[in-house]
Amino acid sequence: AKWWLKHANAQTGQPTTMNAVLFRRHGGPDVLEYTEVPDPSPGPGDIVVRVKACALNHLDCWIRQGIPAYRISLPHISGCDVAGIVERVGEGVTGRRAGDRVVLAPGLSCGRCEWCRRGDDNLCVSYGIRGSAVAGGYAERILAKASDALPLPADLPFDEAAAFPLVFLTAWHMLVGRAKLQAGETVLVHAAGSGVGHAAVQVAKHCKARVLATVGADAKIPKAETLGADAVINYRREPFEEQVLRLTEGRGVDVVFEHIGPQVWESSLRLLAKGGRLVTCGATSGPSVTLDLRYVFSRQLSLLGSLMGTRAELDTVAQLVFRGTLRPVVDTVFPLREARAAQERMLSRDVFGKLVLAP
Ligand code: ZN
Repeated sequence: AKWWLKHANAQTGQPTTMNAVLFRRHGGPDVLEYTEVPDPSPGPGDIVVRVKACALNHLDCWIRQGIPAYRISLPHISGCDVAGIVERVGEGVTGRRAGDRVVLAPGLSCGRCEWCRRGDDNLCVSYGIRGSAVAGGYAERILAKASDALPLPADLPFDEAAAFPLVFLTAWHMLVGRAKLQAGETVLVHAAGSGVGHAAVQVAKHCKARVLATVGADAKIPKAETLGADAVINYRREPFEEQVLRLTEGRGVDVVFEHIGPQVWESSLRLLAKGGRLVTCGATSGPSVTLDLRYVFSRQLSLLGSLMGTRAELDTVAQLVFRGTLRPVVDTVFPLREARAAQERMLSRDVFGKLVLAP
């Protein structure tokens, strides 16, 4: 997995280096170190991409802190959402050439197992995410499979290109793939200012649903409305449960878009209309919740888990972004060397949309 040691300069024998942000031990943002590492070199089927933009995700922080679900070897380079320019191609690569503008698929799958063969490649037995299973984009260059690179339209800036894959794929798989959101249904999107939340508002509007959204600051209300939210609730100022019941005349919502965990779990379940679906992709406020089973069966509720999304869904989402139907919002672009400040900013929640690193 340590390509920068294994493959370094296999062709020339001369060490060439790049700048990267890595960590040598798990811990807080202070373990991030801006340093030089050997350049990657492409093997058969590989490309080396000069990173122009790498978006941050909460996953980066979980991996830095060290959680059992993502076993990595140290030192490690994070970053799953990468856009850039193909610089070198390995043996046998035909579809991509040096100079191509590309964005990389964040999900890595084997293509051969039972789940991959039926198209559920996000359930692959060896599923991994770029920046955890392999080195990521907090660097000037990154190694990838040529087949993981999607060509970018000339008019899409690199920062917006890097901002969309993980969050829009996740939101699409949750609302379209899992919850089967229908036109005219009502959906509650938690934390509409977060990366995945701002994607969910747009995906839900694309499905012609009515979108109720929560945010944690008044300044985020007009921004969420601009993305298409029909009603926006500042959950710090007013209890969102009361407001959602008022806005739905006591009926509740058809779908709850959940990624927070215990902090909103019980309210979210109570807000589901009969036959409602709660779809979840995360647990930022903790891993464990309580569940009253009588409530689940008597109201015929569905609880749906969701992990990333399939490659076919990524291709669909990418076309919608390339056409301007879905618009990733970039809050701030930080220089690569300020990765620590960028992660601290993300953890502060004082963000609307995505934070991006630019080498
Ligand atoms: Zn597989």
